[in-house]
Amino acid sequence: MGKDILFLQFAQEDSHDNTLLNLNNGLSNVYNECKKIGDFYWATQFNNQSEMGKNELPIKKGKVYVSAFYYPHLLQTYYWAQKYPDIEFNVGGPVIRSGNYSGQDLPVNLNLTNKNAEEVILNKNTLSKTWGIEYPKEYIKGKKAVRFTYHLDHRCYWNKCIFCEGYTKDLNKGLNNSIDNLKINDNYSNLKKIIRLNIPSITPKFLKYELPRLLRRKDIVYDFFLRASKEIIDLLPEVLKNLEEGNGPHPSQLRFVVGVEFPSYKMLQYMKKGIEKDIILRIIELAKDYHISLGLPFIYGWNNLSQTDVDEAVEFLHNVEKIGHPNTESVLFKLEVYPNTSLFSSLKGCLEPLKKYIFDNGEHRVVLNAEQYLLNEEFKNALINSRLNTVLYDSTKLGYIYTND
Ligand code: SF4
Repeated sequence: MGKDILFLQFAQEDSHDNTLLNLNNGLSNVYNECKKIGDFYWATQFNNQSEMGKNELPIKKGKVYVSAFYYPHLLQTYYWAQKYPDIEFNVGGPVIRSGNYSGQDLPVNLNLTNKNAEEVILNKNTLSKTWGIEYPKEYIKGKKAVRFTYHLDHRCYWNKCIFCEGYTKDLNKGLNNSIDNLKINDNYSNLKKIIRLNIPSITPKFLKYELPRLLRRKDIVYDFFLRASKEIIDLLPEVLKNLEEGNGPHPSQLRFVVGVEFPSYKMLQYMKKGIEKDIILRIIELAKDYHISLGLPFIYGWNNLSQTDVDEAVEFLHNVEKIGHPNTESVLFKLEVYPNTSLFSSLKGCLEPLKKYIFDNGEHRVVLNAEQYLLNEEFKNALINSRLNTVLYDSTKLGYIYTND
C-alpha cells in the first residue's frame, strides 16, 4: 500500500455453498493499468446493515474506485464515505448503471458514475487490453471454486424486451471485448473457475465462431445467457456436437442461463421476448444430453395474468420436470420496473416506488389487486414446490434466498 489510490472490489462466500467464493471483479478490464497507479483491494460484502462501513480501509486519504455489483456494495461505500471524509469515492458498476440517483442526498465525497472504468480511471474511451484477476489469497483458503466475470459487452443484440433497460443504454459504446484477452492464472489449478461470460445475451455469431475458441480445461466452467430463440436453436445442436468432438471446451464445461420469465404464450408475446416455450424445452433436453448445467430465471409480479396463463405456465413446469435434467436451478425474481422502459410508460398509475435500503433510484413494483396477487402466488408456489431447485431473489434484501434447504 502507499499510493493513496485503491481499486476496491467485493468478494463473498456463496450463501448456499461455503466452498464457493464469488468475486465481483468489475475492474478486471483495467487490471494491469490500475496496478501501475494504485493497489487492488478485496473487501468483504456484508449483508447485515449494522456491520457495513465498520471495517477499516487501508488508506485514510486519497481516492478509492469501487466496483458495485449489488446494493450492499453501494450502501457499504456510502458508510465509508461518511467515515473517511478525506477519501474521494468513485463508484461504478451494474448497480449504478441500472438506477437513477439524481436527487439523492449523498455525501459530497461519494461520486456515482455509469461510465466505463476505462473512461473514469484511465481517462480514455478505448478498451483496455490488459484483463487480469488476482484471487484474494486470504479468502480462498478452504475453497474449491471461485466465480468471476469476464466482460464481453453490455449491449444486447435483441434489445426489445419491454421490462429491460439496464443493458441497452449506450448502444454505440459497447465494449465488444475479445475472448483473446481472457488470461487465467494457472497458479491455482486446483481451484475450479466458474467464468460468467458477461454479455446480456450470447449472440449467434459468438456461439458459432467464438465459443469453439475457448480453452478446454477441466478446471473451467463457462456460464452465459442464452436466448431460447429460433436463430439459437438452429445452431445449437451442431455447435454442441463440434465441441464434444474436441473443438473448444467440452460441453460439460458450459452452463446456460436461459431466461424463461413467465412461460405462457400471451405473456412471452407481451414482453416481446422473441422466445418460444418449445425451444426452451428443446434447449433443456440438449443440456441434459450433453451434461450442461442450467439456470432458469423466472419473473412474477405481473398485473395482467389470466388463469389460462398460470395453467399454461404450470404445465410448462411439469414438462421441464419430465425432462428430468438433474443439474437445473431456477431463480424467481419479483418484477422490478425501471424508468425509461416501455413497461414503465405503459403501467403509469399502476406502480409504487421500490426503495432499496436507503436508495430511491426510480425503480418501481407493480401494484396488484387481489385477483392478480393470487394468480401470481399460484405460479410462485407451483415453482417452489416443483423439482427445479428454486432460489428466490430479493434485491432489496440479501439477494438469493434458497427455498429447497
Ligand atoms: S434478451 Fe435480455 S438483455 Fe436483451 S432485451 Fe431481453 S431481457 Fe434485455
